[in-house]
Amino acid sequence: DASMRVRVRLARLGTRYVLLLAEDRTEAFRLDEVRRDFVANISHELKTPIAAVGLLAEALEQAADEPVQVRRFASRLTTESGRLTRLTQEIIELSRLQAQDALTEPELLNVDTIVASAVDLSRVVADAAKITIAVGKKSGALVNGDERLLVMAVHNLVANAVNYSPEGARVGVGVRRNDGVVEITVTDQGVGIQEADLERIFERFFRVDQARSRHTGGTGLGLSIVKHVVQIHGGDIRVWSQPGSGSTFTIRLPEAPHPAPAAIGDTP
Ligand code: ADP
Repeated sequence: DASMRVRVRLARLGTRYVLLLAEDRTEAFRLDEVRRDFVANISHELKTPIAAVGLLAEALEQAADEPVQVRRFASRLTTESGRLTRLTQEIIELSRLQAQDALTEPELLNVDTIVASAVDLSRVVADAAKITIAVGKKSGALVNGDERLLVMAVHNLVANAVNYSPEGARVGVGVRRNDGVVEITVTDQGVGIQEADLERIFERFFRVDQARSRHTGGTGLGLSIVKHVVQIHGGDIRVWSQPGSGSTFTIRLPEAPHPAPAAIGDTP
């Protein structure tokens, strides 16, 4: 935890310099371990789609005279290369986020607009599964942040809500202002998550059901990315879930004050 590390450093500055160095090394060692784990996970996760691409290319070569087979293998090749692309993009995104404690140039953003963009990105998949996404009324809330990252975070939650819901279900998205905090809530009536898995779903590459996640094209990195995006915005994320009846994810961000309207006669 970065804040803890700083606190230890400040408390011991000056008097116990040697101890300070020891603390630092432990922290460096821990970070190194986290990095090594990540690299090991990545290698493992990349192996399957890379092997599949190789096998499918070989099968394509051999099936050259059989158009039906060619079409089948080519379509699977497209799926696997799409998975590889997504996986690589998300790995890069996550490693960037992990190296970041805070935003460098936050902008004043309208939360309703962020939510609308995130929901738009999920429309096609939702329509295909006859899932209705209901967006609540406008909140007028503002936050300081990075628009691309926040849209991505909310979109990840909405996409999960759609992916883990049965056909015809309803997904609800809402924004509330609550005492200086902006709450973005995504609710679904899907499969839900068992209590034992709840604390693990934010871990990199963790999936409750490998087969299902793979089928929907999941990488297991989505929620980990969401958690990091929310953290560098000074917020947090919470989840409630009931297996069999659905889940609710809530992102909480510090609300930014509305800029004071310029007085008449002010020069820009
Ligand atoms: P994935 O790419 O597999 O969806 P995520 O990091 O987004 O990866 O989510 C991790 C796991 O948490 C998923 O594989 C799934 O098991 C579970 N999960 C996430 N969102 C939901 C949801 N809305 N309903 C049920 N399970 C969910």
